[in-house]
Amino acid sequence: MNKILVTGALGQIGSELVVKLREIYGADHVVATDLRSSAHEITRSGPFELLDVTNDKAMFEIAKRYEVDTVIHLAALLSATAEEKPLLAWNLNMGGLMNALEISRELGCQFFTPSSIGSFGPSTPKDNTPQDTIQRPNTMYGVNKVSGELLCDYYFHKYGLDTRGLRFPGLISYMTPPGGGTTDYAVEIYYAAVTTGRYTSYIAKDSNMDMMYMPDALNAIIELMEADSSRLIHRNSFNVTAMSVDPEAIAAAIRDEFPGFILDYDVDPKRQAIADSWPHSIDATAAKTEWGFHARYDLKAMTKDMLSQLSERQM
Ligand code: NAD
Repeated sequence: MNKILVTGALGQIGSELVVKLREIYGADHVVATDLRSSAHEITRSGPFELLDVTNDKAMFEIAKRYEVDTVIHLAALLSATAEEKPLLAWNLNMGGLMNALEISRELGCQFFTPSSIGSFGPSTPKDNTPQDTIQRPNTMYGVNKVSGELLCDYYFHKYGLDTRGLRFPGLISYMTPPGGGTTDYAVEIYYAAVTTGRYTSYIAKDSNMDMMYMPDALNAIIELMEADSSRLIHRNSFNVTAMSVDPEAIAAAIRDEFPGFILDYDVDPKRQAIADSWPHSIDATAAKTEWGFHARYDLKAMTKDMLSQLSERQM
Protein backbone atom coordinates (compact mmCIF):
# COMPACT_ATOMS: atom_id res chain seq x y z
CA MET A 1 0.00 0.00 0.00
CA ASN A 2 1.37 3.39 -1.00
CA LYS A 3 -1.46 5.61 -2.30
CA ILE A 4 -4.80 4.53 -0.87
CA LEU A 5 -8.39 5.42 -1.83
CA VAL A 6 -10.98 4.84 0.93
CA THR A 7 -14.73 4.88 0.14
CA GLY A 8 -17.38 5.40 2.83
CA ALA A 9 -14.60 7.04 4.85
CA LEU A 10 -16.84 8.95 7.28
CA GLY A 11 -18.48 5.79 8.65
CA GLN A 12 -17.74 3.85 11.84
CA ILE A 13 -14.71 2.06 10.39
CA GLY A 14 -13.46 4.60 7.84
CA SER A 15 -13.34 7.58 10.19
CA GLU A 16 -10.80 5.73 12.37
CA LEU A 17 -9.06 3.76 9.63
CA VAL A 18 -8.19 6.89 7.64
CA VAL A 19 -6.56 8.48 10.71
CA LYS A 20 -4.45 5.36 11.27
CA LEU A 21 -3.52 4.94 7.60
CA ARG A 22 -2.45 8.60 7.42
CA GLU A 23 -0.24 8.10 10.49
CA ILE A 24 1.46 5.10 8.85
CA TYR A 25 1.58 5.97 5.13
CA GLY A 26 1.47 9.80 5.26
CA ALA A 27 -1.51 12.19 5.11
CA ASP A 28 -1.19 12.86 1.36
CA HIS A 29 -1.14 9.13 0.63
CA VAL A 30 -4.69 8.46 1.85
CA VAL A 31 -7.59 9.87 -0.17
CA ALA A 32 -10.75 9.80 1.95
CA THR A 33 -14.08 9.86 0.09
CA ASP A 34 -17.74 9.72 1.10
CA LEU A 35 -21.20 10.53 -0.23
CA ARG A 36 -21.45 13.31 2.36
CA SER A 37 -19.14 15.78 3.99
CA SER A 38 -18.78 16.56 7.68
CA ALA A 39 -16.61 18.51 10.09
CA HIS A 40 -14.65 15.33 10.92
CA GLU A 41 -10.87 15.82 11.04
CA ILE A 42 -10.30 13.40 8.13
CA THR A 43 -11.90 15.95 5.78
CA ARG A 44 -9.11 18.39 6.73
CA SER A 45 -6.06 16.30 7.65
CA GLY A 46 -5.47 15.08 4.06
CA PRO A 47 -7.21 14.77 0.69
CA PHE A 48 -11.00 14.43 0.92
CA GLU A 49 -13.42 14.10 -2.04
CA LEU A 50 -17.19 13.76 -2.26
CA LEU A 51 -17.89 10.48 -4.04
CA ASP A 52 -21.02 8.42 -4.64
CA VAL A 53 -19.68 4.88 -5.21
CA THR A 54 -22.55 4.09 -7.59
CA ASN A 55 -21.02 6.68 -9.96
CA ASP A 56 -18.28 4.68 -11.71
CA LYS A 57 -16.99 7.61 -13.78
CA ALA A 58 -16.51 9.82 -10.72
CA MET A 59 -14.74 7.00 -8.85
CA PHE A 60 -12.44 6.33 -11.79
CA GLU A 61 -11.62 10.04 -12.18
CA ILE A 62 -10.65 10.41 -8.51
CA ALA A 63 -8.65 7.15 -8.43
CA LYS A 64 -6.75 8.15 -11.59
CA ARG A 65 -6.16 11.77 -10.54
CA TYR A 66 -4.58 10.69 -7.24
CA GLU A 67 -2.72 7.77 -8.90
CA VAL A 68 -3.90 5.35 -6.22
CA ASP A 69 -2.47 1.81 -6.00
CA THR A 70 -4.86 0.53 -3.30
CA VAL A 71 -8.65 0.70 -2.92
CA ILE A 72 -10.28 0.13 0.47
CA HIS A 73 -13.98 -0.08 -0.27
CA LEU A 74 -16.15 0.52 2.83
CA ALA A 75 -19.28 2.29 1.52
CA ALA A 76 -22.30 0.05 2.13
CA LEU A 77 -25.75 -0.17 3.65
CA LEU A 78 -25.57 -2.21 6.87
CA SER A 79 -27.69 -5.18 7.93
CA ALA A 80 -30.67 -3.62 9.72
CA THR A 81 -31.05 -0.75 7.22
CA ALA A 82 -30.54 -3.09 4.26
CA GLU A 83 -33.44 -5.24 5.48
CA GLU A 84 -35.65 -2.12 5.52
CA LYS A 85 -34.47 -0.99 2.06
CA PRO A 86 -33.47 -4.14 0.13
CA LEU A 87 -33.46 -2.59 -3.34
CA LEU A 88 -31.29 0.33 -2.27
CA ALA A 89 -29.02 -2.19 -0.48
CA TRP A 90 -28.59 -4.27 -3.64
CA ASN A 91 -27.86 -1.24 -5.80
CA LEU A 92 -25.39 0.32 -3.36
CA ASN A 93 -23.75 -2.82 -1.96
CA MET A 94 -23.37 -4.66 -5.26
CA GLY A 95 -23.19 -1.69 -7.67
CA GLY A 96 -20.60 0.13 -5.53
CA LEU A 97 -18.52 -3.03 -5.11
CA MET A 98 -18.59 -3.81 -8.83
CA ASN A 99 -17.47 -0.24 -9.66
CA ALA A 100 -14.67 -0.40 -7.10
CA LEU A 101 -13.47 -3.78 -8.42
CA GLU A 102 -13.58 -2.65 -12.06
CA ILE A 103 -11.61 0.51 -11.30
CA SER A 104 -9.07 -1.52 -9.34
CA ARG A 105 -8.73 -3.89 -12.30
CA GLU A 106 -8.25 -1.03 -14.78
CA LEU A 107 -5.69 0.72 -12.59
CA GLY A 108 -4.04 -2.45 -11.20
CA CYS A 109 -4.80 -1.66 -7.54
CA GLN A 110 -4.63 -3.89 -4.50
CA PHE A 111 -8.19 -4.23 -3.15
CA PHE A 112 -9.87 -4.65 0.24
CA THR A 113 -13.53 -4.84 1.21
CA PRO A 114 -15.10 -6.20 4.41
CA SER A 115 -17.56 -9.06 4.50
CA SER A 116 -19.45 -9.89 7.68
CA ILE A 117 -20.75 -12.61 9.99
CA GLY A 118 -23.99 -11.65 8.18
CA SER A 119 -22.74 -13.69 5.21
CA PHE A 120 -23.72 -16.80 7.20
CA GLY A 121 -27.31 -17.96 7.55
CA PRO A 122 -29.65 -20.20 9.56
CA SER A 123 -28.25 -23.43 8.05
CA THR A 124 -24.63 -22.50 8.90
CA PRO A 125 -23.17 -24.37 11.91
CA LYS A 126 -23.64 -21.87 14.74
CA ASP A 127 -20.78 -22.75 17.09
CA ASN A 128 -17.13 -22.41 16.12
CA THR A 129 -18.38 -21.65 12.58
CA PRO A 130 -15.67 -22.85 10.18
CA GLN A 131 -13.93 -20.67 7.60
CA ASP A 132 -15.37 -22.78 4.78
CA THR A 133 -18.96 -23.76 5.44
CA ILE A 134 -22.59 -23.37 4.33
CA GLN A 135 -23.45 -19.76 3.43
CA ARG A 136 -27.17 -19.45 2.66
CA PRO A 137 -28.12 -16.16 4.40
CA ASN A 138 -31.77 -15.07 4.52
CA THR A 139 -31.15 -11.29 4.68
CA MET A 140 -30.45 -8.89 1.81
CA TYR A 141 -27.23 -7.80 3.57
CA GLY A 142 -26.13 -11.43 3.82
CA VAL A 143 -26.94 -12.06 0.16
CA ASN A 144 -24.86 -8.97 -0.73
CA LYS A 145 -21.94 -10.10 1.44
CA VAL A 146 -21.78 -13.66 0.05
CA SER A 147 -22.08 -12.31 -3.50
CA GLY A 148 -19.32 -9.82 -2.70
CA GLU A 149 -17.01 -12.56 -1.40
CA LEU A 150 -17.58 -14.57 -4.57
CA LEU A 151 -17.08 -11.54 -6.79
CA CYS A 152 -13.77 -10.70 -5.11
CA ASP A 153 -12.62 -14.33 -5.56
CA TYR A 154 -13.69 -14.10 -9.20
CA TYR A 155 -11.61 -10.98 -9.82
CA PHE A 156 -8.60 -12.67 -8.24
CA HIS A 157 -8.89 -15.86 -10.29
CA LYS A 158 -9.93 -14.25 -13.56
CA TYR A 159 -7.79 -11.09 -13.58
CA GLY A 160 -5.16 -11.73 -10.91
CA LEU A 161 -6.46 -8.72 -8.96
CA ASP A 162 -5.01 -8.77 -5.43
CA THR A 163 -8.35 -8.84 -3.58
CA ARG A 164 -8.44 -9.41 0.19
CA GLY A 165 -11.24 -9.37 2.76
CA LEU A 166 -12.32 -10.04 6.34
CA ARG A 167 -15.60 -11.32 7.72
CA PHE A 168 -16.02 -8.78 10.50
CA PRO A 169 -18.12 -9.49 13.57
CA GLY A 170 -19.94 -6.58 15.31
CA LEU A 171 -17.43 -3.78 15.75
CA ILE A 172 -17.37 -1.75 18.95
CA SER A 173 -15.94 1.77 19.03
CA TYR A 174 -16.37 5.16 20.70
CA MET A 175 -15.33 7.62 17.97
CA THR A 176 -18.16 7.33 15.40
CA PRO A 177 -21.59 5.81 16.08
CA PRO A 178 -22.40 2.63 14.14
CA GLY A 179 -24.46 2.95 10.97
CA GLY A 180 -27.51 0.65 11.25
CA GLY A 181 -26.17 -2.84 11.98
CA THR A 182 -27.70 -5.61 14.10
CA THR A 183 -24.91 -5.45 16.69
CA ASP A 184 -25.24 -1.66 17.29
CA TYR A 185 -26.67 -2.48 20.75
CA ALA A 186 -23.17 -3.47 21.86
CA VAL A 187 -22.01 0.10 21.24
CA GLU A 188 -25.15 1.86 22.53
CA ILE A 189 -24.92 -0.03 25.84
CA TYR A 190 -21.58 1.66 26.65
CA TYR A 191 -22.89 5.15 25.78
CA ALA A 192 -25.90 4.46 28.04
CA ALA A 193 -23.65 3.24 30.86
CA VAL A 194 -21.79 6.56 31.06
CA THR A 195 -24.85 8.80 30.53
CA THR A 196 -28.00 7.36 32.14
CA GLY A 197 -26.63 4.25 33.86
CA ARG A 198 -29.24 1.98 32.27
CA TYR A 199 -29.90 0.41 28.86
CA THR A 200 -32.88 -1.30 27.22
CA SER A 201 -31.60 -3.92 24.81
CA TYR A 202 -33.39 -4.66 21.52
CA ILE A 203 -31.40 -7.92 21.33
CA ALA A 204 -32.53 -10.75 23.63
CA LYS A 205 -30.71 -12.27 26.59
CA ASP A 206 -28.64 -15.32 25.55
CA SER A 207 -28.20 -14.05 21.94
CA ASN A 208 -24.49 -14.66 21.59
CA MET A 209 -22.73 -12.96 18.67
CA ASP A 210 -19.12 -12.31 17.79
CA MET A 211 -17.67 -8.85 18.50
CA MET A 212 -14.33 -7.09 18.15
CA TYR A 213 -12.92 -3.75 19.39
CA MET A 214 -12.15 -1.21 16.67
CA PRO A 215 -8.33 -1.07 17.26
CA ASP A 216 -8.19 -4.82 16.55
CA ALA A 217 -10.32 -4.38 13.41
CA LEU A 218 -8.02 -1.64 12.08
CA ASN A 219 -4.90 -3.70 12.78
CA ALA A 220 -6.50 -6.71 11.07
CA ILE A 221 -7.16 -4.70 7.87
CA ILE A 222 -3.60 -3.38 7.73
CA GLU A 223 -1.96 -6.70 8.66
CA LEU A 224 -3.98 -8.57 6.03
CA MET A 225 -3.18 -5.97 3.36
CA GLU A 226 0.53 -6.14 4.23
CA ALA A 227 0.61 -9.96 4.39
CA ASP A 228 2.69 -11.94 1.92
CA SER A 229 0.27 -12.79 -0.89
CA SER A 230 1.76 -16.26 -1.37
CA ARG A 231 0.69 -17.26 2.18
CA LEU A 232 -2.99 -16.46 1.57
CA ILE A 233 -5.15 -19.43 0.71
CA HIS A 234 -8.51 -17.83 1.44
CA ARG A 235 -8.18 -14.09 0.57
CA ASN A 236 -11.97 -13.44 0.59
CA SER A 237 -12.96 -13.53 3.30
CA PHE A 238 -11.27 -14.45 6.59
CA ASN A 239 -13.27 -15.09 9.76
CA VAL A 240 -11.97 -12.74 12.48
CA THR A 241 -13.30 -12.30 16.02
CA ALA A 242 -12.20 -11.39 19.53
CA MET A 243 -15.15 -12.54 21.68
CA SER A 244 -18.60 -14.09 21.60
CA VAL A 245 -20.97 -12.22 23.93
CA ASP A 246 -24.63 -11.59 24.74
CA PRO A 247 -26.11 -8.46 26.39
CA GLU A 248 -25.78 -9.99 29.88
CA ALA A 249 -22.05 -10.62 29.44
CA ILE A 250 -21.45 -7.00 28.38
CA ALA A 251 -23.60 -5.71 31.25
CA ALA A 252 -21.63 -7.86 33.73
CA ALA A 253 -18.34 -6.46 32.38
CA ILE A 254 -19.73 -2.91 32.66
CA ARG A 255 -20.75 -3.58 36.29
CA ASP A 256 -17.10 -4.35 37.15
CA GLU A 257 -16.50 -0.63 36.50
CA PHE A 258 -20.01 0.86 37.09
CA PRO A 259 -21.66 -1.41 39.73
CA GLY A 260 -25.12 0.21 39.54
CA PHE A 261 -25.61 -0.34 35.81
CA ILE A 262 -29.11 -1.62 34.93
CA LEU A 263 -29.95 -3.69 31.82
CA ASP A 264 -33.48 -4.49 30.69
CA TYR A 265 -35.02 -5.73 27.45
CA ASP A 266 -37.51 -4.63 24.80
CA VAL A 267 -36.68 -7.04 21.98
CA ASP A 268 -37.07 -5.76 18.39
CA PRO A 269 -38.38 -8.77 16.40
CA LYS A 270 -36.82 -7.55 13.14
CA ARG A 271 -33.28 -7.16 14.42
CA GLN A 272 -33.63 -10.24 16.64
CA ALA A 273 -34.55 -12.30 13.56
CA ILE A 274 -31.33 -11.16 11.87
CA ALA A 275 -29.31 -11.99 15.01
CA ASP A 276 -30.94 -15.43 15.22
CA SER A 277 -29.78 -16.23 11.68
CA TRP A 278 -26.11 -15.47 12.53
CA PRO A 279 -23.48 -17.70 14.21
CA HIS A 280 -22.88 -17.67 17.96
CA SER A 281 -19.11 -17.84 17.56
CA ILE A 282 -16.85 -18.13 14.54
CA ASP A 283 -13.51 -19.90 14.11
CA ALA A 284 -10.64 -17.55 13.15
CA THR A 285 -7.98 -20.28 12.73
CA ALA A 286 -7.42 -19.60 9.01
CA ALA A 287 -6.70 -15.90 9.68
CA LYS A 288 -4.30 -16.86 12.49
CA THR A 289 -2.36 -19.40 10.47
CA GLU A 290 -2.30 -17.67 7.07
CA TRP A 291 -1.34 -14.12 8.16
CA GLY A 292 -0.99 -14.09 11.96
CA PHE A 293 -4.31 -12.51 13.02
CA HIS A 294 -4.32 -11.75 16.73
CA ALA A 295 -6.96 -9.78 18.70
CA ARG A 296 -5.46 -7.81 21.59
CA TYR A 297 -8.71 -6.82 23.37
CA ASP A 298 -10.99 -9.28 25.18
CA LEU A 299 -14.33 -8.22 26.70
CA LYS A 300 -12.76 -7.01 29.96
CA ALA A 301 -10.01 -4.93 28.33
CA MET A 302 -12.40 -3.50 25.74
CA THR A 303 -14.99 -2.55 28.38
CA LYS A 304 -12.40 -0.79 30.53
CA ASP A 305 -11.16 1.24 27.55
CA MET A 306 -14.64 2.04 26.15
CA LEU A 307 -15.90 3.31 29.51
CA SER A 308 -12.82 5.36 30.21
CA GLN A 309 -12.79 6.93 26.71
CA LEU A 310 -16.53 7.72 26.79
CA SER A 311 -16.35 9.09 30.35
CA GLU A 312 -13.51 11.41 29.28
CA ARG A 313 -15.57 12.64 26.33
CA GLN A 314 -18.49 13.38 28.70
CA MET A 315 -16.35 15.86 30.68
P1 NAD B 1 -21.17 2.96 8.23
O1 NAD B 1 -22.62 2.79 7.94
O2 NAD B 1 -20.76 3.47 9.56
O3 NAD B 1 -20.51 3.89 7.12
C1 NAD B 1 -20.80 3.76 5.76
C2 NAD B 1 -20.37 5.04 5.06
O4 NAD B 1 -20.70 4.90 3.68
C3 NAD B 1 -21.11 6.28 5.58
O5 NAD B 1 -20.18 7.28 5.93
C4 NAD B 1 -21.99 6.71 4.40
O6 NAD B 1 -22.11 8.12 4.28
C5 NAD B 1 -21.21 6.13 3.23
N1 NAD B 1 -22.07 5.91 2.05
C6 NAD B 1 -23.36 5.50 2.01
N2 NAD B 1 -23.78 5.45 0.74
C7 NAD B 1 -22.74 5.82 -0.04
C8 NAD B 1 -22.54 5.99 -1.43
N3 NAD B 1 -23.54 5.75 -2.31
N4 NAD B 1 -21.32 6.38 -1.88
C9 NAD B 1 -20.32 6.64 -1.01
N5 NAD B 1 -20.45 6.53 0.32
C10 NAD B 1 -21.63 6.12 0.80
O7 NAD B 1 -20.48 1.54 7.93
P2 NAD B 1 -19.18 0.89 8.62
O8 NAD B 1 -19.63 0.29 9.91
O9 NAD B 1 -18.04 1.83 8.61
O10 NAD B 1 -18.95 -0.35 7.63
C11 NAD B 1 -18.03 -0.31 6.55
C12 NAD B 1 -18.00 -1.68 5.90
O11 NAD B 1 -17.70 -2.68 6.89
C13 NAD B 1 -19.33 -2.13 5.26
O12 NAD B 1 -19.05 -2.88 4.11
C14 NAD B 1 -19.94 -3.02 6.32
O13 NAD B 1 -20.84 -3.95 5.75
C15 NAD B 1 -18.70 -3.69 6.87
N6 NAD B 1 -18.91 -4.23 8.22
C16 NAD B 1 -19.10 -3.41 9.29
C17 NAD B 1 -19.31 -3.94 10.55
C18 NAD B 1 -19.53 -3.06 11.76
O14 NAD B 1 -19.82 -3.58 12.85
N7 NAD B 1 -19.36 -1.76 11.65
C19 NAD B 1 -19.33 -5.34 10.71
C20 NAD B 1 -19.16 -6.15 9.60
C21 NAD B 1 -18.92 -5.60 8.37
